[in-house]
Amino acid sequence: MNSDQEDYRKLLCSTSMGYTAYYVWSLQARRERKYNVSRLLAALSSMKRVRAEQAFRALGEVGKTRLNVAHALAGFEPDMIASGPVTGISTLPRELLERAAQALGEGRDLVAEEMGDLFVCGSCGELMEGAPATCDVCGTVREGFLSFRATESMGTLGPHTIVRQLEQTWGTLQALVADLSEEQLATPAVGAASIKEQVGHLTDMDVVFRERAWLILETDTPQLPNAHPPTLVQAARYRNHPMIDLMEAFYTSREQTIDLLRGLTVAAWRRTGHHTIFGTIPLTHQGNWIVDHEKGHLIEMAQIRHDLLDHRTLSLPHSLVFEILEGE
Ligand SMILES: [Zn+2]
Repeated sequence: MNSDQEDYRKLLCSTSMGYTAYYVWSLQARRERKYNVSRLLAALSSMKRVRAEQAFRALGEVGKTRLNVAHALAGFEPDMIASGPVTGISTLPRELLERAAQALGEGRDLVAEEMGDLFVCGSCGELMEGAPATCDVCGTVREGFLSFRATESMGTLGPHTIVRQLEQTWGTLQALVADLSEEQLATPAVGAASIKEQVGHLTDMDVVFRERAWLILETDTPQLPNAHPPTLVQAARYRNHPMIDLMEAFYTSREQTIDLLRGLTVAAWRRTGHHTIFGTIPLTHQGNWIVDHEKGHLIEMAQIRHDLLDHRTLSLPHSLVFEILEGE
């Protein structure tokens, strides 16, 4: 191995580890509802990934796909080289991490004003705050950047997909509750609420979402109410409600929501409201929020149903339970 190769090998090892560390830390921050800190960690993770990719290519490990698949089958075994610290090395990442540490020390997420949109150069992995026209390091144009925008922190689904997914939830719920007794539907899993509580909770959230959507559509850049998104804990009372009532409440609410959203123009979806944590966000941000939130609960309910019908102990995988995002 010549010294160039050794440098690349070292870089590949350190950036691969850094990528994994930042990626998993980003997921964890999201579970803790620290969305902006999560966005920062996701950007840092991408920065490492781009650099790992560069090093991997420089080492000549990437050929035609036929060859790569053959290598994969043969059991690709890279030389590992100890590399020293793999995170928190360069200037801007350090500065941003210090801002995050400060906010977390105060028991809160970074707010929109404290961290701008982040971009990672897709060619060289340079991290940028704000949106320069080109990468300072390698000259790549803005179109080649990976973006980590506050407005996209909840996801990047477009209007059509958001509405379609919101429409599909009713059918999914019907399938999830079919043939389960009232008692089964009220049975909580370890670390998770019962199906009844979750359905009641989804209705609560749908109401919050619709109120916000209405404000965004009907008033100019409203302050979005954030005091009362109902948490799952407050849904405990639904355990005693008949399932048919809970389903009807969801159906009625969701129909109203779909009525509000159906046929909106792209311009309407771009209308904005102001959110304390995310800053000025378009309606699509909130649409992604409700879809993402709902998806988490639907997965959890599917797991509960599966476990109930299998007569297994109701203990959900850790990764599943805490993926559900509550109340922002
Ligand atoms: Zn660059």
